[in-house]
Amino acid sequence: MSSVTIVGAGLGGLMLARVLAVHGITAVIYEADASAGSRTQGGMLDIHEQDGQRALAMAGLKDEFRALVHVGGQASRVLRRDGTVLFDQPDDGSGGRPEVLRGALRRILIESLPAGTIRWGRKVIEIVPLGEGMHRLIFADGSTATANLLVGADGAWSKVRPLLSDARPAYVGTTFVETYLSDADSRHPATAAAVGSGALFAVEAGKGIFAHREPHGVLHAYIALSRPARWIEDIDFADASTARTRLVAEFAGWAPALTALITDGDTAPMLRMIHSLPNDHRWKRLPGLTLIGDAAHLMPPAGDGANLALLDGAELGEALAAQPDSVETALAAFEDRMFKRSTETAREAHRVLGLCLGERAPNSLIEFLSGALNA
Ligand SMILES: Cc1cc2nc3c(=O)[nH]c(=O)nc-3n(C[C@H](O)[C@H](O)[C@H](O)COP(=O)(O)OP(=O)(O)OC[C@H]3O[C@@H](n4cnc5c(N)ncnc54)[C@H](O)[C@@H]3O)c2cc1C
Repeated sequence: MSSVTIVGAGLGGLMLARVLAVHGITAVIYEADASAGSRTQGGMLDIHEQDGQRALAMAGLKDEFRALVHVGGQASRVLRRDGTVLFDQPDDGSGGRPEVLRGALRRILIESLPAGTIRWGRKVIEIVPLGEGMHRLIFADGSTATANLLVGADGAWSKVRPLLSDARPAYVGTTFVETYLSDADSRHPATAAAVGSGALFAVEAGKGIFAHREPHGVLHAYIALSRPARWIEDIDFADASTARTRLVAEFAGWAPALTALITDGDTAPMLRMIHSLPNDHRWKRLPGLTLIGDAAHLMPPAGDGANLALLDGAELGEALAAQPDSVETALAAFEDRMFKRSTETAREAHRVLGLCLGERAPNSLIEFLSGALNA
């Protein structure tokens, strides 16, 4: 089998290239970012046994992954708007969802690849089908490349997806705004204490503050608001101070230890409007072409997207390695499994978002977290 061409060096594309390399198959990844460090890759990811950890085992990177785990990170608590703790689950080390920094996980994947696999600064702007499963990629810098087997691992706004599907991501009606507080234990002790050692959820119908402690005293938060797109677009996020004032006004009466996650950020608040593809997104098989990760199944963040991207990459790599002379059969079998898995997970992701921010929050979230503990 000839080299596999991957667009996107996110977790999905990197995992695919790694598993292919483990099986002696070469791959090239074209990535829009100029270098591995050109964009912050913040955020803790909980890596699940059934998908993310399975993928890392298939990639032969289990030990490297274990060395990254943030001890204490699996703790979770739910707070009322006045800061009262309603639910508190410490991390006793027995949970199956160890937390790691996304940037650190991405780095072990990058470092595991043969030199030259990733072509940085190559943003795909157009893809031209050449027939017989071949495609020409045209990059923003004017260069081109030809792919015998093309995998779109290029995330929510994939350039590869339109070759296979007319589906476009739709706004789900909820927006996250991302903030960071550094040196929190000394500079923001009340907020650091409120967040605890792992994850904090302070939620009500239509609004909430999700925060997580990262290594080195960093608090990373998502301020969630269920609002129409027009309402969000009316806020000028280029003006950080005005954006903070608009956001915190939605949390009037909340404990200052919580609203500090909106007002005291060290970085400008970053807008993340949440989009999703239809839960049952799929496509008719076309030769020489497939999608993995968010490009295939974008869903609201409920702790699964990165895990699915990792498993997609690993399973596609193994499927191709198992049938190097029957690529189309391998792709069809892989897609079939991926479609079933992603439809179920996407439904659950919408449900979990509803439990966090729906009419019965925070009770619905507490029942969900308690149920997960007792399961
Ligand atoms: C606010 C938020 C919080 C989240 N939290 C979690 C969580 O806690 N746990 C979890 O499991 N998931 C989480 N997710 C989901 C997770 O981030 C994604 O599902 C995951 O990153 C998908 O990986 P991917 O490799 O498919 O795509 P991406 O990570 O999006 O990677 C795509 C890559 O393709 C590159 N690219 C894009 N277009 C081009 C182009 N035209 N040419 C070349 N390169 C291109 C991009 O630069 C990028 O490097 C969250 C998502 C959001 C929005």
